[in-house]
Amino acid sequence: MAEFKTSPGMRDILDPESGRWRRFVSAFEHTVEPAGYRQIIPPLLEDIGVFQRVGEATDVVTKEMYDFVDKGERHVALRPEQTASVCRAFVQHRPVTPWKAWYAGPNFRYEKPQRGRFRQFDQVGIEVLGATDPYLDVEVIALGWNFLAGLGLRRLTLQINSLGEPTDREKFMSALSAHFTNELDALSVESRATLSKNPLRVLDSKRDEDREIIARAPRIADFHSDEARAHFASVRTGLERLGIPFVVNERLVRGLDYYRHTTFEYVGGTLDSAQNALGGGGRYDGLVEDLGGPPTPGIGFAIGVDRTLLACDDEGVFEPPVSSVRVFVIDTTGGAEALVLTDQLRRSGISADRAFESRSMKSQMKAADRSGAEVALIIGSDELASGTVVVRPLRGGDQISVHRDDLLPALQKVLT
Ligand code: AMP
Repeated sequence: MAEFKTSPGMRDILDPESGRWRRFVSAFEHTVEPAGYRQIIPPLLEDIGVFQRVGEATDVVTKEMYDFVDKGERHVALRPEQTASVCRAFVQHRPVTPWKAWYAGPNFRYEKPQRGRFRQFDQVGIEVLGATDPYLDVEVIALGWNFLAGLGLRRLTLQINSLGEPTDREKFMSALSAHFTNELDALSVESRATLSKNPLRVLDSKRDEDREIIARAPRIADFHSDEARAHFASVRTGLERLGIPFVVNERLVRGLDYYRHTTFEYVGGTLDSAQNALGGGGRYDGLVEDLGGPPTPGIGFAIGVDRTLLACDDEGVFEPPVSSVRVFVIDTTGGAEALVLTDQLRRSGISADRAFESRSMKSQMKAADRSGAEVALIIGSDELASGTVVVRPLRGGDQISVHRDDLLPALQKVLT
């Protein structure tokens, strides 16, 4: 018989980790909903064109896309990220701007699996479409920061940068290209290949041979227009006023053509450097237009669930919850009484479980202990005959016998 395991880079998230994921998304919801963000649940699958928009030069598009032709001859892809889907949805539904959306869910990238890097991975994120105010950049950055800090993370760094106006960026790119072309022979093979596609991406290289050449590369700040400088100054001032510490990292560039002005990254303190980016984002223009909409500026971030939880593990915070039922019903008379009683308890809002298959008293008691319940309710033949139930506290205290009609009030007293 064939035995199946999850595909490489794919996992089952089991309890108690699944409980932690649920709480993670819930914490995110409780951070962004009160700030006026509303949830969008885009489909997992879109026309591949939606994602090809994000630029031909990125690995996400060239190598990592899970794409295929469906039965209707459509070339579709599992989403590698959700920003493009949110922009596609904006064009399709034309909501009132500024449109503030949040999302949570899986993305798919055909990457080499390793610690903190999977082929199916979840992100939570927000996007705001239709406003250019630098204080919006601050709001967005602050919400991500507050969320991560709220999980208990302390060794957290916020890195920010500005890519300036599109024309600043172009001038910077030419200067960068000239610089790297001059040093072509010394660059790594990978960076040489990247250079021909997008010189900005060379700045992302962490290879030793590139490091020194990158350190001497032109700096974006020298190319900022007055407007770009003013925008970035407001962002920094806004963050200072909120008391959010940050460092300016001029090497923080997003490779995509759409990014301009503010870019930022939340960096965890304890993971190795390849995996310490918990999430990041930035301001972008042109994505909505490329998807057929009106010129609309956007800003957002995506935070990876896996990496953030790894950072939580490293810091010993936001631990998996211990879930248990409060009451365990033991029925040695065939199981029908347990059926009725658990149903009654659950309808009254008291969590309850039971054993099945007419196990012995001893085996049911063991199951009760394993369940973590506070109280066992026991029905044997005597109790069945007299219409009573034995209420036995499982963490110390004396057991009592109560009439079935008085059970709920008696139970409320015993449950802490
Ligand atoms: P990106 O969408 O590439 O800007 O990534 C944003 C965040 O998503 C990263 O900082 C990671 O936390 C997470 N992430 C990206 N790719 C993966 C992956 N393959 N596996 C797990 N997490 C990922």
